[in-house]
Amino acid sequence: MIRSVKSFDLKGQTVLMRLDLNVPLSGEIIQDDFRIKASLPTINYCLNEGASIVIMSHLGRPGGNNAKQYSLVPVGEALASMLEIPIKFSEDCISQDSINTSLSLKPGEVHLLENLRFYIEEEENNVEFANRLSRHGRLYINDAFGTAHREHASNSGIVNNFKNYGIGFLIEKEIKYLKEIINKPQRPLVLLLGGAKVSTKIKLLNRYIHQAEKIIIGGGIAFTFFKAMGYNIGKSLLESGMVEKARSIIDLARRSGKDLILPVDVICSESIDHSPVHSSINIREIPDDLIGLDIGPRSIEKFNEVLSSASTIIWNGPMGVFEKSGFSNGTRMISNNLAKIAESDVAVIAGGGDTSSALKYFNLIEKLTHVSTGGGASLELLSGKNLKAIEKLEV
Ligand code: AMP
Repeated sequence: MIRSVKSFDLKGQTVLMRLDLNVPLSGEIIQDDFRIKASLPTINYCLNEGASIVIMSHLGRPGGNNAKQYSLVPVGEALASMLEIPIKFSEDCISQDSINTSLSLKPGEVHLLENLRFYIEEEENNVEFANRLSRHGRLYINDAFGTAHREHASNSGIVNNFKNYGIGFLIEKEIKYLKEIINKPQRPLVLLLGGAKVSTKIKLLNRYIHQAEKIIIGGGIAFTFFKAMGYNIGKSLLESGMVEKARSIIDLARRSGKDLILPVDVICSESIDHSPVHSSINIREIPDDLIGLDIGPRSIEKFNEVLSSASTIIWNGPMGVFEKSGFSNGTRMISNNLAKIAESDVAVIAGGGDTSSALKYFNLIEKLTHVSTGGGASLELLSGKNLKAIEKLEV
């Protein structure tokens, strides 16, 4: 059993909370505050229950260096304005000063610690470092879904120092959608895959080739499958090390009578920075000098028809280079349809970093049944694996 934050009496307690506030920054400007907002329910709940909170997070990959561009100061400012209260901040997550600040917190106060990964010991799951971090609070809550597939000091080693520990509302919600609903889906279940790297999606393919009724493959990964089928893919994205694997997935689908749906037309260009050539190209006719960068209108229609027949949909990976307006149409049209489908009884669950960025870009995050805050963690959970940091909280 894993305890929820709700199972503790929080009045007068100092809650040490691991959050995933790893947001994309441009200078000091937060590009996407999705993860901060997703952490608010647990923070607000603890404050309303009369607790004080010490927040730990990482940001980026400073590799154990005190690198100012990875400071959590802008995140602290954003959080303070969302909570509408001032927040205390410590520049060193394990200094005696920072621990003293935590020990002197009054109910309703929040203390944010500087980036955990300024210490290499965090990613090494160092026992001493974990022990020092644990001195910040009396009760430990992990709500950092995005790092839950890793065993680091702040989400793994630290747990040994507490009697009372559990998960927050975000992890609870992610488990509900990515594990409980997906393990017993309403059928038909359709997996919609896109994006750039076959190798990161292979676990999903391996599972859902057995468990989904239909699998749709768009985005850059489709070209590795076309290569496996012997088509000319021009200069389109190819993961040559995955061609054999793609071929075996195609064979398995054929043998088991499973529908594997691929694009029938693509939008191409000479380069990602050029405009698209004026009309879509049949998938069997990609010229040698062009790159397929989005799915074409006939593919959109075909994909949407399949999606509209589903009762549960899992989506990972954009249909094209949605970051460029000339190649965003496929992802936009599919996202719009998914938002419409989610209005009915169908569970539409999206996971993976770029998928949520695309939904954010099209202003559709709120419209799907669930959009995961995790990249690697959501892929692991959707693939049927357990997350190590969550297992650590079993009692
Ligand atoms: P992933 O993290 O594997 O889901 O990949 C996401 C990235 O795939 C996005 O940045 C897209 O721009 C990129 N992408 C999607 N379709 C294509 C394509 N046809 N060619 C190249 N990159 C693509």
